[in-house]
Amino acid sequence: MKMDLVIRNGVIVDPVSLEEVRGDVGISGDRIACLGSDVPQGEREVDARGLLVLPGLVDTHMHFEHRIGDPYTVLRFLLLQGVTTAFAGHCGEGVTIREYKEWFRQNPLLNMGFMIGATTLRRAAGSEDRYSPSTDEQISIMEGLLRENLEEGAWGLSFGLEYAPGTSSDELTRLALVVSGFEKRLISIHIRSDGHRSPGAVAEAIDLARRTGVRVQVSHLGSMTAFGHSEEALRMIGQARAEGVDVTFDVYPYYAFAARIGSAVFDPGFEERLGKGLEALDISTGKYRGVALTPETFKKAREEDPDAYVIAHVMNPDEVDMCLLHPDSAIASDAVLRGDEGHPRAAGTFPRGIGILRKAGLSWPEAVRHATSRPSEMMWHDGGRIIEGANAELVVIDPDVYHDRGEFGKPLVPPRGVKWVILNGKIAVEDGNVTEPPSGKMLLR
Ligand SMILES: [Zn+2]
Repeated sequence: MKMDLVIRNGVIVDPVSLEEVRGDVGISGDRIACLGSDVPQGEREVDARGLLVLPGLVDTHMHFEHRIGDPYTVLRFLLLQGVTTAFAGHCGEGVTIREYKEWFRQNPLLNMGFMIGATTLRRAAGSEDRYSPSTDEQISIMEGLLRENLEEGAWGLSFGLEYAPGTSSDELTRLALVVSGFEKRLISIHIRSDGHRSPGAVAEAIDLARRTGVRVQVSHLGSMTAFGHSEEALRMIGQARAEGVDVTFDVYPYYAFAARIGSAVFDPGFEERLGKGLEALDISTGKYRGVALTPETFKKAREEDPDAYVIAHVMNPDEVDMCLLHPDSAIASDAVLRGDEGHPRAAGTFPRGIGILRKAGLSWPEAVRHATSRPSEMMWHDGGRIIEGANAELVVIDPDVYHDRGEFGKPLVPPRGVKWVILNGKIAVEDGNVTEPPSGKMLLR
């Protein structure tokens, strides 16, 4: 049988068996049809001699939101890193599954699944004040809307508790119990506080998983705890997992976070919580971009351009790396952009994260596991491996030069070393360029 596409002579990396085997990959339609040394001729063949053939990367946590960013640019830059499947709708943000379907089909650059955000549910229920708990009646409306979205294929529910500090324990529990009525759905939580208050916030997330039996994914753990509390957070999560509590976490490999300046993250007192002040902050989008921050300009920017993104250089590098190096971690981008402005994680998370793991001594399969099979397992998603019969999602990289190039102030530079990205059997990136037309699918649970 003739193949549609064959990748010849590469080293195939398997993140589960941890093997690296020289061989060919034959693709027929959107499936991996055969592997090994006797793969038949292909309609198209590419020569991967000297290159690594990895499963397409899986991003469990990114943002695809018009309200706070520029979704199609985010998809493009994830694809250019080798991401083929991504999950949006985190940190409480996003839209309904019906609206996502509309947006997504306009430019389906990746395979995508969506969570439904609790803040989105709050808005729909008229619970607009982030500092107030939702009323009993509002929570009932949220429960109904959540159930509808889960029935329509949402992968789960997300909370952005730091952005909606009024969220009560009752609201948290009642929504989680709706999720618990559906199979293989999870809750992601941007926890209630970072910095010196993060241990209690991690405990709250673990407690929710323990009480309701729902899998809880702690979002971008390093950015919340790398203020002297990562070791403690990892110990708490490890202990809970050992007791059978279903808690997971993702990490982005940068030592600065990004958040909207008008969000509750920067409410008075943030300096004490983060252990650093205005000297560690840069406004990275909008009309205040690059402005020297004084208490006056900061206050003005908060009032006049509350959606501007601030980059906060506040985390301890060693601790972010510690979270990343934990065997249970998934690398995830948390990517969000406004035009060509924002945090470089949108363009560099995966090569950078894999690079840090490699430098720490992990083999290629061990490092790649954190960006493929591990995030797949966390979502109960059937992906992240190169095996016969699997959906054909692959990335072919030059291991000697695969690295990120985006920087703070100049975030949108694609990485080096990505030769091809194969999405659903079709070449989606060739030599650093996105090919047309896009062939991504919407993934419904
Ligand atoms: Zn978040």
